[in-house]
Amino acid sequence: LQLTRELEENNRAVKVLYAELDEKAEHLRRSDQAKSRFLSNMSHEFRTPLSSIRALAKLLLSRSDGELSDEQEKQVRYILQGTVALNEMVDDLLDLAKIEAGKVDVRAERFLVADMFSTLRGLLRPLLGSSAVALTFHEPHAGLALLSDQGKLSQILRNFISNAIKYTEQGEIAVRAALVPGKGMMRISVTDTGLGIAAADHAFIFEEFSQVEHRLQTRVKGTGLGLPLCRKLADLLGGSVGMDSVPGAGSVFWVSVPLNYAAQGGDAPAPPHS
Ligand code: ADP
Repeated sequence: LQLTRELEENNRAVKVLYAELDEKAEHLRRSDQAKSRFLSNMSHEFRTPLSSIRALAKLLLSRSDGELSDEQEKQVRYILQGTVALNEMVDDLLDLAKIEAGKVDVRAERFLVADMFSTLRGLLRPLLGSSAVALTFHEPHAGLALLSDQGKLSQILRNFISNAIKYTEQGEIAVRAALVPGKGMMRISVTDTGLGIAAADHAFIFEEFSQVEHRLQTRVKGTGLGLPLCRKLADLLGGSVGMDSVPGAGSVFWVSVPLNYAAQGGDAPAPPHS
């Protein structure tokens, strides 16, 4: 009898504990939703004033006709550069919030890796400016195609490559696509000969916001949102991201995606990351 009573009491205690856990989980879910809503609203609110500042700074530059001193013109250019950087940050925030809210669809289509590479080459070469760093694209074979969301995959690669450009002072940035044997996956890697990243930071680099605190390179300013976004985008594509790096020697960032998005994820799109 004593035992039964103890068991009943234990049962009651366990039930109370479960109810408390449920309540806490619900609370966490709500805070998470509130955070996503806040990020999304805030990003929207930032956009309008930012576009005005940008448009006005451009107008000032185009109309100045020698009215601005060299120093003033330089300052207006700084304003313009600042708005471009802020715009990128707001776009990343908005994309992250959308993915978290499950509001992003995967649009799988068949495309040639070579075509994606040539578009990326055209977009990113200008970022090198007068730098002596070489940006090369290597393709496995001409007809290699993927069934995936080209826009999202390109967004990941744009992030990897523009980071490589930011943090590489000399040498080469090489983009390579290779089949992962027996896995039905393709891995696209971006290797640079840049500053590299300390081993202690590798575990944080794809984490939202935390990277900013772990950043080693204070020379180049960034938001620390690009790589977390890459990870979420790769999740959506049914793939993954990874990196390796040796400080002072360089880094490699890669993304692996299924060759055939539908075959990997079934008929349903990959679940949104929450
Ligand atoms: P951001 O570049 O806007 O700061 P990211 O999330 O893209 O944000 O990158 C986070 C940080 O990771 C960067 O600030 C930088 O410290 C480090 N990083 C990313 N890519 C590289 C790279 N190729 N070489 C060296 N450091 C890198």
